[in-house]
Amino acid sequence: MNLQASPWALIDWERIRADFPLLTREVHGKPLVYFDNANTAQKPAPVIEAVDDFYRRHNANVSRSVHALGTEATDAYEESRRKLANLLNVRGDEIVLCSGTTFAINLVAYSWALPQLKPGDTILVSRMEHHANIVPWQLVAQRTGARIKVAEIREDGTLDLDALYKAMTVDVKLLAVTHVSNVLGTVNPVREICREARKRGIASVVDGSQAAPHRKIDLPAIGCDFYAVTGHKMCGPTGTGALWARKEHLAAMPPFIGGGEMIKEVSFDGTVFNDPPHKFEAGTPNIAGFVGLGAAMDYLQGVGFDNIEAREQALLAHLTEELDKVPGLRMFGRAPQKAAVVSFLIEGAHAHDLATLLDLEGVAVRSGQHCAHPLLQFYGVAATLRASLAFYNTHEEIEAFIAALNKARKLLA
Ligand code: PLP
Repeated sequence: MNLQASPWALIDWERIRADFPLLTREVHGKPLVYFDNANTAQKPAPVIEAVDDFYRRHNANVSRSVHALGTEATDAYEESRRKLANLLNVRGDEIVLCSGTTFAINLVAYSWALPQLKPGDTILVSRMEHHANIVPWQLVAQRTGARIKVAEIREDGTLDLDALYKAMTVDVKLLAVTHVSNVLGTVNPVREICREARKRGIASVVDGSQAAPHRKIDLPAIGCDFYAVTGHKMCGPTGTGALWARKEHLAAMPPFIGGGEMIKEVSFDGTVFNDPPHKFEAGTPNIAGFVGLGAAMDYLQGVGFDNIEAREQALLAHLTEELDKVPGLRMFGRAPQKAAVVSFLIEGAHAHDLATLLDLEGVAVRSGQHCAHPLLQFYGVAATLRASLAFYNTHEEIEAFIAALNKARKLLA
C-alpha cells in the first residue's frame, strides 16, 4: 500500500493521536491498542477540557435563569445544537437533543408510530439492526397490532435490495434501517433506499450511530424522515445524542415525556407545549455533555470527514489484508462499501476466550453479540470478535493486534 500517494497521508496523524490522552496508557503492562471504537470512541483533550471548563466556570441550568451563568449555559447548549445541525446539513430547530440513539428511536416509536399505526400496518426492519432499532418497533407493534417484517441480508453482509423493495408493500408504513452496521461494517445505500421508501409513502428511520462518526452526513441528500445519532461514538461525552426529523413530523408529533422545559404554560385545565424541538426535551438535559459534544463536533470538523474516512479506509484495508492471512479465520461481512468494523471468529477458539487473551496483551476488542442477536442468528453463531477502528488508530497497532491474535490463537489451539 502506497500511503504517501494520497493528499490525506500528509496529515500528521501522530499529532492528532496525541490529542487523545487515554491512548497513551498501558493495560496489563502493554501499550493500549483500543479497537473498540464502535462501542464508544475515545475523547480528545478539547472535549475533556470543554466539559471541565463548563463545570469550573459556567455551570448553571438552561433556559430557566436570566442571570449570566444561566445565559452562558443556555447559549453553550444551544450552540451544540447548531453545530450538530451544521454537521448534518439541517436546520437547528429540526434537531432534538437527547441521550443518544436509543432515546432518539424510542422518541419516534412512541411519539410518531404509536399514535398512528394500527392492525394491518407493517414495520419493515432490516436484519442487521442494532437492538435499539428493533425492540422499540416490537413494543409499538405489540401495542398497535402492527406487524414486523424483516428485510433480509445476503451472506456477504449486504442488504438484499431487490427483496427489500419487494417487501415495501402497501401495508408498510415505516422502514427501520441502519446507515452502517455495527457488526459487519456494511454501509447501506440509504439514499437509494429512502428514495424507494418515499416513493411508496413509507416513512424511513435511519440509525446513524455508526455512520456519523466516520463520514460526512448530508441529511437532505439522504432524504430520510428520521435520523438518529449518538454523541459518545463521535468523540463526545456519553449521554448525548440527537434525533433529526423533518419539521412537519416534529410539529405533528405529541410530546413523548412531560415535565419542565417542554411547556409554554401549565394550568390544571391543560398545558400548552413548547415549540419543537424543545417540546421533546423535558427536564434538565446533560448540559455539560452537550458542551463537550459541541467541542467534539469542532474537533471532527477540524480533522475533516474526508480525511477521517480516507484514513479509516486505509486502516481497514490493512486490517482486512492481515486478518485474511490468519489460519482458520472466518470474517463476517464483505460488503464492497464498508466502514472500519471487522467481525470474525477463529476456528476452535471461543470469541470471549480470544478477547480475554487479547486484553492481556493490551488489546481492547469486543466479543459477544453486539446487541444484534437476529444478525448473529442469520450467521448461526453465538458470538463474534469485533475490531472497530477510528482515525486515531495506527498501522503499528494493527501489527500489534495481529501478533497478539496469533499468540492467543496458538494458546487456544
Ligand atoms: N445503533 C447502533 C448501530 C449502535 O451501534 C448503537 C450502539 O452501540 C446504538 C444504536 C445504541 O446507541 P446508544 O446506546 O448510544 O443509544
